[in-house]
Amino acid sequence: MPGDWQRALAIVAHPDDLEYGCAAAVATWTDAGREVAYVIVTKGEAGIDTLEPAKAGLVREREERASAAVVGVTQVEFLDHADGVIEFGTALRRDLAAAIRRHRPELVITLNPVDTWGGTYWNTPDHRAVGTAVLDAAGDAGNRWIFPDTEAEPWNGVRWVAVNGSDSPTHAVDVTSGLERGVRSLLEHRAYIEALTSEDPEEYARNLIEGFARESGERFGGRPAVTFRLFTR
Ligand SMILES: [Zn+2]
Repeated sequence: MPGDWQRALAIVAHPDDLEYGCAAAVATWTDAGREVAYVIVTKGEAGIDTLEPAKAGLVREREERASAAVVGVTQVEFLDHADGVIEFGTALRRDLAAAIRRHRPELVITLNPVDTWGGTYWNTPDHRAVGTAVLDAAGDAGNRWIFPDTEAEPWNGVRWVAVNGSDSPTHAVDVTSGLERGVRSLLEHRAYIEALTSEDPEEYARNLIEGFARESGERFGGRPAVTFRLFTR
C-alpha cells in the first residue's frame, strides 16, 4: 500500500463493515500516527432480527464507536440513510462528496461494491450502492460545479480509493501488529454477534479475523494481511 499519506476516510454502509474487513489495517495506520475517520451511511438498525430498529440503531451506533476506539479512531459520523434500502443516486453521492470535503482525505477506504463475494455469495444492495457511490464521490468532491452547495469547500486531494473485500486485490497491508486489535474491534459488536451466532463471541471474532488475515497473507508473503483493490486518481 502507498505510505505517503496522512489522512484516510473510511466510508461504508453499516456498523461492522469495517470490523469484519479492515480494522486491523486501521490499527497499524493509527499506530504510525496517521489519522483515520469513519463515515457510516446507516446505523445498521435492520441488522438484528430480535431487536426492533429504533433500539437496534442505538445499540449498533454505540458498538461502532467502541469498535473504532479500539483501533485508534475517534471521529465516527453516521449519515442516517435507511438500513437495507440505501438508494444509489445523486442524493447519496452528494452526502458522500460532502463528507469527503469535510474530512479532506488522501486515501478513501470502502467495501466491495461488485455483485458478489468471490463469485459465490450475492452482495447486499447497500454494499453495492455505497461502494459505487464512494468511488464516484471521490471525483465529485473535487469538482466545484458538482454539488456546489455543500458547506465545505471542494477537495480534489483524494489520491486513492482502496476497496476492501475485493475478489481481485492489488495491494495488502501487513497487519502483524494490528491483528489482535482487529479481533477486539470486531468483538465490540457483541450484541450483533450474539444475535447472529451461538458460538462464543470471542472465539467467533478471533477465528474469523485471524482466518481472513491468514488466507489473505498467502498471496502476500505469508504474513497476516488485509487486502485492498486500489484505484488511483
Ligand atoms: Zn454491511
